[in-house]
Amino acid sequence: MRSNFLLSHKKALKSLKKVLKIDKQIIYTSIFESFLTGIYPYLSLFLVNIVIDSLIYKKFDNLPKNVIFLLLLIYLTGILIDFLKSINDYKTKNIHKKFIYMISEKSMTIDYEEMEKGDFLQKLSDARYVIEHLGGYDIFINYYISILSKIVVIISSFFMIIKMCFTKSINHDIGRFSIISNSYILLSIILSFMLLNIFLSRLISKKSKMRTAEGYQNKMKVERRLNYYVDKVFSNVNFGKDIRIFQMQDYILSLYEDTLNASISFYNKFYHETIKNKESLNKIIMFIAQLSAYTLIIFKVYFKSISIGTMSRYIGVLYMFNNSINELIDINQKISLQSSFIEVFDELLNLPNKKESGNRKISSIKNNRYIIEFHNVSYRYENSKDFALKNISYSFRFNSKFGIVGKNGSGKTTLIKLLTRLYDPTDGYITLNGIDIRQFKYEDYLSLFSIVFQDYQLFAFPISVNISANLHPNIEKVRFAISEVGMSDKVDKLANKENTSLFKMEKDGINFSAGELQKLAIARAIYKDSPIAIFDEPTAALDPESEYEIFKNMSQLINRRAGVFISHRMGSCRFCDNILVLDKGRIVQIGSHEELLKDRSKLYYKLYSTQANHYIE
Ligand code: ADP
Repeated sequence: MRSNFLLSHKKALKSLKKVLKIDKQIIYTSIFESFLTGIYPYLSLFLVNIVIDSLIYKKFDNLPKNVIFLLLLIYLTGILIDFLKSINDYKTKNIHKKFIYMISEKSMTIDYEEMEKGDFLQKLSDARYVIEHLGGYDIFINYYISILSKIVVIISSFFMIIKMCFTKSINHDIGRFSIISNSYILLSIILSFMLLNIFLSRLISKKSKMRTAEGYQNKMKVERRLNYYVDKVFSNVNFGKDIRIFQMQDYILSLYEDTLNASISFYNKFYHETIKNKESLNKIIMFIAQLSAYTLIIFKVYFKSISIGTMSRYIGVLYMFNNSINELIDINQKISLQSSFIEVFDELLNLPNKKESGNRKISSIKNNRYIIEFHNVSYRYENSKDFALKNISYSFRFNSKFGIVGKNGSGKTTLIKLLTRLYDPTDGYITLNGIDIRQFKYEDYLSLFSIVFQDYQLFAFPISVNISANLHPNIEKVRFAISEVGMSDKVDKLANKENTSLFKMEKDGINFSAGELQKLAIARAIYKDSPIAIFDEPTAALDPESEYEIFKNMSQLINRRAGVFISHRMGSCRFCDNILVLDKGRIVQIGSHEELLKDRSKLYYKLYSTQANHYIE
């Protein structure tokens, strides 16, 4: 139990360290806020004490002076607390943003291979949830501010209680109540009630089953399911089309209703327990403890050892003491929960970016002579029993044009992902000019390639930013790339030309057709001007002859550079110097179009002849 307590505070303090790394000053402003919040309630208690005593004992000499002084003090302290609170709020919001930024950064820099795994996506969504809904790391600041202010209250009220117990009675003739007037006995009685309060509060907080890490984990699951409908389905324009055409509204709404009902019953349980355990029972215990303590204080007044005004102050002090103890126990439980949630964030951030381990520079390679060689490379996807690629050995000499052809699912895209180090081989290795590609700086290695994927993505950013992949595009280069893909006329007609945003996220954004967007994706590859350009079936939606034409145009566009053209249609790559034919993850043929056609018993000829009537020779 104790070790749990220490462990969660150790974790929480470690988290706090992370917060302080982002903003050191917050520690001073927080301590100051805690201290002032701790002493603030006493000021009003003193004020009430003075006023009541003056009225009862009819001593008004110093009353106006004291009241004005205390009111002023209360007012100024209140303003100062508000001021510090808003500073701390502002700071915590910034810290919060920084943590969200860290998750976003991680999700864009983590190895692509890792990103594809379900485990990563789960961690990412849990970490987001912890940060956005449970307060992330910054909530620890609030917790510790509260802890400090509660400690200030507990210590100060404790001394006040001792002082009260040891105030001597004026009336000594108190007969059978003399036991209560004994300071030590009085103190022990009050403390026993308080200990009882502590014991019962802890018992209740431990009994609270829903408020465990598991309970919150279930809460995350419930919310994730709800969010899927709200964020991904209802507001997604692309879903909008299919939902209408296939008239899926009723079906989706009924699924949503089930999820909603499940979440309502979960929340009923979740909050019911809070109300049942925390609110009612806690209040009853506190009431009993308080009532007993109040009775004792009233005795003190009766025996004239304290004034009625002082009594009101002590009642307030006792209330604050008990309340602070309960809240302290509550915060402790929250800290222990939060420190177990926050682990998911740490796990996410600590996932290694293996691809970034190399530090060799590519610039040391002379004359742009790149030879990338696969050495018996195999690749198998996670959770898949078959290899997507098996024993590939081939040397790509990037001074010419390559075609990679094969049926769908034959491993073409996987090969490109290995070539560009989006994946690392399961077996075998790949070298660049004889050196294992893992030794090169990842950024340097990636700079060798520009790729147009089949499922390329453009963003709701200005056209120029999309093409340059840079916030400060070289406009001349952007315009050149646009003209190379034949989009100049179209773009020049837009009010903001290449500064127009794509898609309708912005009011003046532009929606292009699929073909036009594809041209912009190709312009992006032209802008990057890398030594090796790869086109992974970006033309699959077109008819075979158009694909051939576009591939040939692309090949001319990248004239000076090496190109890799990928297609499931044999004829589309017939302009290439060398064509690799893939089948079931293996290279089954290599040669020029003419050479490959010669062997009529092999796949290339067979597939080409069935597809050939689509080509106009
Ligand atoms: P191609 O590009 O030739 O169509 P791919 O390289 O995409 O082929 O796929 C090769 C094999 O790997 C296929 O059997 C495919 O189902 C499988 N595959 C592709 N991507 C994944 C993935 N992310 N997870 C599991 N299997 C995959």
